[in-house]
This record gives sequence, C-alpha cells and structure tokens, in this order.
Amino acid sequence: MRTHTNVVYVKLEHEGFTGWGEATLPPYLPETQKSVSEFLREFNKSISSNTIDDWFEKLKPVQTNMSAKAALDMALWNLKAQVENKTIGELLRIKEKEFPLGTYTIGVSSLDEMKTKVEEANKAGFEIFKIKLNGENDGEVIRDFKSLSNKKFAVDVNQGWNDPEEVCSKIMWLAGEKCLLVEQPLPKNKNSEMALIKGKCPLPLYADESCQRLSDIERLKGSFDGINIKLMKCGGITEAYQMILKARELDMKVLIGCMSESSVGCTAAAYLTPLADYADLDGPYLISNDPFSGMKIKEGRIELNPLVQTMQL
Ligand code: MG
Repeated sequence: MRTHTNVVYVKLEHEGFTGWGEATLPPYLPETQKSVSEFLREFNKSISSNTIDDWFEKLKPVQTNMSAKAALDMALWNLKAQVENKTIGELLRIKEKEFPLGTYTIGVSSLDEMKTKVEEANKAGFEIFKIKLNGENDGEVIRDFKSLSNKKFAVDVNQGWNDPEEVCSKIMWLAGEKCLLVEQPLPKNKNSEMALIKGKCPLPLYADESCQRLSDIERLKGSFDGINIKLMKCGGITEAYQMILKARELDMKVLIGCMSESSVGCTAAAYLTPLADYADLDGPYLISNDPFSGMKIKEGRIELNPLVQTMQL
C-alpha cells in the first residue's frame, strides 16, 4: 500500500494575483521532484517575457516532462482566470450545464479495508465506485464489493488481463453484475486484440495507459469506446481540452481522471468535467494533508469551488 506521494507545487505571481499548479509524482511516473524542479528552473531561465500568453506559447511545444508541464500549465490557467476575473471554465467557454458523477477508487484490498473505504466514500457523498482488478480473485473482489454496497461500479484492470477470450467472458460476467465500464483490460500495446474484444463486448471499454496524449486518440478509435484523460499524462488543461474535442469528434466517451493530485490538480481538472461522461477526481478524498480546498463531491456529482489555500507550505 502506498503511504505517500511526492508532489511539487508551482506558485506564479503576477499583478498581485497568485496562480497555483501541481505535479503529483506517483512512483510509476518517470518524473521526480528533482526532474520537475530542474525543468521549472530551465523554463524560467529561457523566458524573457512577463505576459501570461507568452508563457503559454513557450510551453506549448514542450514534449517531455509532462507532469512539470501540467503543473505550469494549470498555474497559468489559474492565473489567467484571476487576471481576467473569469473562471477557467469561462475562459474555455465551457457551459456548466451538468457536472458528471464522480467515482471513488478502491484499490486491491481485503474485505475489511474495502468496508472502511466504502464507508468513507458513502460519507463523502460518492455514488459510483471504481474497483481495481488485477486478474487474481476478480470474482471474489466484485462479490466482496457487492456484499458491502449496491451502488454502481466501474472496474479498472490496469493492463492486468491477457487472454482476449478470457477477457470477453469476464466482461460478460461483469455486465451481468451491472458494471458500468471497463478500463484498460489488456496491456497498453495490445490494440488489435482490444479491437477484437470491442466487437464482442457488451460494456464500454476505456483506454487509460493506452491513451497518454492527443496524438494517441485517433488510433484507439476502433479498439476502445472511450478515453481516460489525466492532466499528468497530457501536460495540462490546454491539451486535455483538445483531447476532449478530438474524442467527441470521433464519437468516443470521455472520463476525466487523476493520479493522486490534491485539490490544486483536481480542481483544475474539474473545470473540464461538464464536457465529460464521468469524472474520477477522488485525489483530495484519498490524501490526509491536502494544503488546499476546491472541488468537492455533492450528491455524487462534481461540485466546483474556487481553489483556496488552507495550510502554509
Ligand atoms: Mg486507470
């Protein structure tokens, strides 16, 4: 079990306003606090202008250090919104018609641990769960969950299944259990196998590890029904927004996800959620020392609140 996640916060000050960004760095990402700090120092050295739009322009072509880029990108959006006295959603002309349901993630856990998590999620107001499966005891995990809750659930296999035939029968079984969707059942390079499964499978299939950036979406069209967009994968709000437009153009579903961001990263992502089918922004509910408050879950749905710092850093 992971007990903590390293993070780098970015603070930009301009015309009396403060914009915050965040790079969260779970151990499966290649970036570290050191690499993020180095990227930020180099970026700072390379820029001579002081306008927000010039900073955006300079950041646009960056193709590496995606968590660092995401931290800077969201801090710039945060700052631009304050300078222009608008929300990030208003800057992107996103109508806040209806916010999607938010999922609460349950990692691979014992029945007792699962019970505690289900209770925490219920208390926080979540109406959907995302259950992690790893190919071992999957049936038992789902039966355990159903003994604790009759709420809706999705599953995230994290590339944990292999045999396409077996995957089909597991998905048929999950459909009977009223599962909503299946995320990343096969390893990320198994695109043609995924296309075979998609043809036979009764549940929507979402790409996570297979879909990192805007340039990945087109080739996933025949293999998945939807994509999981995360700011840490794609480098921030700017590209995430373009990814949503691309997915919609290809008639694909959209889930806005997170890694283990605090309220800084999850609130930034929450501005995009009126355009999504689901939001997996449970980061602030899974960490105990969030130095900010912002987006929340209300009656199961994402609720947007302005980002407020609640603890000195
Ligand atoms: Mg996933």
